[in-house]
Amino acid sequence: MLEKREFYINGGWVSPLAGADFEVIDPSTEEPCAVISLGGQADTDAAVAAAKAALPGWMATPVAERIALVEKLIDVYKARADDLAEAMSLEMGAPIAMAKTQQSGAGIWHLKNFVAAAKAFEFDRPLGDHAPNDRIIYEAVGVAALITPWNWPMNQITLKVGAAAIAGCTMVLKPSEQSPLNAMIFAELMHEAGFPAGVFNLVNGDGTGVGSQLSAHPDVDMVSFTGSTRAGTAISKSAAETLKKVHLELGGKGANVIFADADDKAVKRGVLHMMNNTGQSCNAPSRMLVQSSIYDAAVETAAETAAKVTVGPASEDGRHIGPVVNEVQFNKIQALIQKGIDEGARLVAGGVGRPDGLNRGFYVKPTVFADVTNDMTIAREEIFGPVLSIMKFETEEEAVAIANDTPYGLTNYVQTQDGARANRMARVLRSGMVEMNGTSRAAGSPFGGMKQSGNGREGGIYGIEDFLEIKAVSGWTA
Ligand code: NAD
Repeated sequence: MLEKREFYINGGWVSPLAGADFEVIDPSTEEPCAVISLGGQADTDAAVAAAKAALPGWMATPVAERIALVEKLIDVYKARADDLAEAMSLEMGAPIAMAKTQQSGAGIWHLKNFVAAAKAFEFDRPLGDHAPNDRIIYEAVGVAALITPWNWPMNQITLKVGAAAIAGCTMVLKPSEQSPLNAMIFAELMHEAGFPAGVFNLVNGDGTGVGSQLSAHPDVDMVSFTGSTRAGTAISKSAAETLKKVHLELGGKGANVIFADADDKAVKRGVLHMMNNTGQSCNAPSRMLVQSSIYDAAVETAAETAAKVTVGPASEDGRHIGPVVNEVQFNKIQALIQKGIDEGARLVAGGVGRPDGLNRGFYVKPTVFADVTNDMTIAREEIFGPVLSIMKFETEEEAVAIANDTPYGLTNYVQTQDGARANRMARVLRSGMVEMNGTSRAAGSPFGGMKQSGNGREGGIYGIEDFLEIKAVSGWTA
């Protein structure tokens, strides 16, 4: 079993000061695969102190040098992309082929987009032609605590670290204790890329320990968090005492509105998108809203598509889906599937229990419910598993009302060949992102939500701006 008890603080690997052992479980087998330490207050303090000490030097480093270090990071990342993929596959269950392409690949994509955005951004510029002696200076928020989840680990870590580094923030990363191994490899990459000591630090820990210590810490200026709405609330409360900046990327319950004139791949595409990463994506299109005239055919297609999704161990090559991350999630998903049945939704694929032939490992059947109403638990709660809810609508107005009737507002999806209608929908759907007809967002597009899905934006220049303060200077000598 891997022993990975150390933390990366002030440019080196150090033994925990107040650590407790924690076993990382391989969700494909339910066996422990590594032991890490969950840090305590002394470890949090040491990491924050290192980040605080490194801050003035890092802020004073010209932005071009900070960008060059991120470019170096991209090179070393590429060289070890498969190591990152293997770690994620082992600890959070992403099938190895998917981990190599989507999970590991996402990191390079985000880092490259930050470099491109930063090169085009004026961090220091006049207010405007009308005020030559007024200057706008963008400077780092300060010490940033980065708290990340297990579902898209490297995606989240690079979205935060890449932006914070370019902005001139120093950092303490606390990855999910469910998926710490990829983050520890990432710390090796930061070291190899040559980031100065203290700019990037990593402490493992759980939410109630290192997580809440970072959110409450007086020397932390900002928390950037991705994960559950529950933890986002807890972090906001503990950050309130010190009035630090809090950036939240939380859950979602996206609607995928399929009109009768949608292209003929729309339903299948929606099901496969839902099942990707075993349904463990905050932007999953988990509520499929289908117009009544194509509803029966859509339910049939969805059931057939889900039935063809195969489930298997993460280490196996191929296009299957893996287990869900852990026992807690497995039990939560099973209970929600049962709740769907109890509340009267019509089960058309999957159901409770493990798929045939898989008796050990946190495997869930790809599941589809039809005839769901928006007041049912499965339509309201983020399930975070391979479970799709299908609902019927008659008119565009009704579709909008159902789609927006949720506490979340992360991503909504629209499928129609009527461009004017698609654009109308994009304007009225209350979410940070609207994706239409299977077109994914381009490089540099901001990722983030409204309502209880959070308040920040990640990716491209928007992501960098979240780690920047805007300073207005008058009387500048031009
Ligand atoms: P979580 O929110 O508890 O964990 C995410 C991260 O937050 C981890 O690093 C965790 O240690 C930390 N954390 C937890 N409580 C904290 C606290 N009080 N203070 C500071 N940090 C804290 O997520 P989970 O328990 O692993 O998953 C539960 C549910 O969260 C899932 O079912 C899913 O609905 C949701 N989730 C959403 C996302 C997302 O991307 N939106 C990601 C992961 C989980």
